[in-house]
Amino acid sequence: MPHPRADLKLDSVHMALWCEGGKPKTLARFPNFEPLRQRLYHQRMAQFPSGQTLLIDADDTLWENNVYFERAIAAFISLLNHQEYSPARVRTTLNGVERETILAQGYGLSSFRQSLLNCFERLSPNGLSDEKRIQIEGFANSILTQEIELLPTVASTLADLATRHHLILMTKGNEAEQADKLSRSGLASHFSAVEIVAEKDPPTYRDVMARHELAPHTSWMIGNSIKSDINPALAAGLHAVFLFHKDTWVLEHAELDAAPEGQKLLELASFAELATIF
Ligand SMILES: [Mg+2]
Repeated sequence: MPHPRADLKLDSVHMALWCEGGKPKTLARFPNFEPLRQRLYHQRMAQFPSGQTLLIDADDTLWENNVYFERAIAAFISLLNHQEYSPARVRTTLNGVERETILAQGYGLSSFRQSLLNCFERLSPNGLSDEKRIQIEGFANSILTQEIELLPTVASTLADLATRHHLILMTKGNEAEQADKLSRSGLASHFSAVEIVAEKDPPTYRDVMARHELAPHTSWMIGNSIKSDINPALAAGLHAVFLFHKDTWVLEHAELDAAPEGQKLLELASFAELATIF
């Protein structure tokens, strides 16, 4: 014979027992039952207690980003229409040019625009005409006008995490561009601080930890880039959560370092899963 409450979800049963010593019919007394149920659910299921500090990356962690650059690069390769180099070889050349430009100018759209122009001049036998320059600048500038496209569940998951933890946005790039994207995303209110840095390396993470007085054992870096979000954060003493994104920029690819003793490294497939462990 089935249990009389077998039609209830397990967590509802637990909630009912917790409320009234096994009298689920009295749940109607709680007008805010759903938030209370969710809070209790997290207390039971979350692996880490409330009060953690979560440093969260932005591009390709909260919203789509690299896919727009890939489209611009595809248009660039098509315009160049190189007669000897394959598209893959043009791309490899562009990656090298981008590394040089970033060293000189940092990250951001103007750096990307300059890389496309430099790469065209380097590879085109006919040089760079005014007409081609305008077209190439148009490919890069089209990224600026892209609507912010949040990744699945980001808005609801961030809102949920912000009720239990201390959230800091940690992104690298051009300050005005990154601040503009955050503003347009509608997510800014969930963060107690925003860090827009020139490079995400161990000294930068240590500096952020010192300025915000972060305790390493309750502080995490979360992001899609092994090179920028995970390995340097682990080196600086933070825990880390790697969120895989299929369109991560090729210049961010790297081998995942092992977590040093006493530090945690988690790998999750979706942003939503953060709410199940934090
Ligand atoms: Mg990223």
